[in-house]
Amino acid sequence: MDAFMYRDGAMVAENVALERIAREVGTPAFVYSLAALRANYRAFATAAAALNAEVHYAVKANSNLAVIRAFGALGAGADIVSVGELRRALAAGIEARNIVFSGVGKKPAELREALQANVRQINVESRAELDMLDAVAGELGRTAEIAIRVNPDVDARTHAKITTGRKENKFGIDIDLARDAYGHAASKRHLRVVGIAMHIGSQILSLEPYRDSIRKLRGLISELRSDGHRIDRLDLGGGYGIVYRRDSNERPFAVADYMAMVRQETAGLGCALSFEPGRALVGNAGVLLGEVILVKPGAARTFVVVDAAMNDLIRPTLYEAWHDIVPVCEPPAGAITSTTDIVGPICESGDYLAKDRAMSPLAAGDLIAVKSAGAYSAVMASTYNTRPLAPEVLVDGERYEVIRPRQSLDELIGADRIPAWL
Ligand SMILES: *Cc1c(COP(=O)(O)O)cnc(C)c1O
Repeated sequence: MDAFMYRDGAMVAENVALERIAREVGTPAFVYSLAALRANYRAFATAAAALNAEVHYAVKANSNLAVIRAFGALGAGADIVSVGELRRALAAGIEARNIVFSGVGKKPAELREALQANVRQINVESRAELDMLDAVAGELGRTAEIAIRVNPDVDARTHAKITTGRKENKFGIDIDLARDAYGHAASKRHLRVVGIAMHIGSQILSLEPYRDSIRKLRGLISELRSDGHRIDRLDLGGGYGIVYRRDSNERPFAVADYMAMVRQETAGLGCALSFEPGRALVGNAGVLLGEVILVKPGAARTFVVVDAAMNDLIRPTLYEAWHDIVPVCEPPAGAITSTTDIVGPICESGDYLAKDRAMSPLAAGDLIAVKSAGAYSAVMASTYNTRPLAPEVLVDGERYEVIRPRQSLDELIGADRIPAWL
């Protein structure tokens, strides 16, 4: 569903006018739709339930407690990549037995806290981590239930910075070394192997890389079982792509087609399945609301300078990502467009939200909505140029609530300390 649309000439989030939020909360601000979050989760979880699979929301996509709580209330578990995310998931009410801990560089203190909390499973990504986890579990007198994240060496055909399942990526254990790693795990007194995991990248638009990876893992699973390992769980990761550019023909696969493929490829395998969607649950459930500061016609193009910048939304800069940008006040049908760069105030040429974009005329004071800003957006924000973190707002029907207030300049600057000897 798209919760952000024009009604009577102005864009709303569900039944709340974005103009009202801008007036009451200020800009820049992230605005999320609870109905969209729920609809996305339900569509995915219903399809997963038909495979008896569990869904662990990948918290890093949007880790606001209210967002995690919304999914938890619908039955989601959590996939976490740091002890900070562990604390968030627990604080939002996700039970530890529904939390899976992934990540390529967990520290001993993080593993300790996860074991003490009794998380469901730790997805181990290296031999060194097997040794580290065994030592930590031993100190605590516990046994850690683990899966090994295997790197199947497939091309997910996504942006280089968000592909994770190729040999040259840092993630997981090479499929060619996996058998050996499982042998190593089995020799550890404080580890119990329960399964296998994969996660091959993000914003994946085709089923083929998933199919290829599952086939490779299937072959490995038979070998591992013949070696005497128990592979009861298969964690298929996340990475499901969403539509960022609505006027293009780039379309992700349907959840139903993905699940049909998984059913086919895992038939008879005898593994309990789980998925870790992040972006697909939150990406299109949010917008970044900004205001035009000024318009600067240049020799080569027109620059529209807005008060949202790369510190709020780094995806265009980091991944050359496209975000649709629309004026909050609906332009008249057939409005003339011109080629525009929408840029922020930050002192970097890389600070832009859109380049060479056909936009209807914008003027100082106009509001814009940067769409698809629910995932990897607020969570990646920084305070570069001493710009406070933007607030987050959750809309539910006619009401909204600020789920993270705007950081004040006092909080931001007051965190620094000047040494007494300076
Ligand atoms: C980031 C991540 C996910 C979620 O990826 P999306 O592309 O947001 O679905 C799932 N699993 C692991 C291990 C991850 O690191």
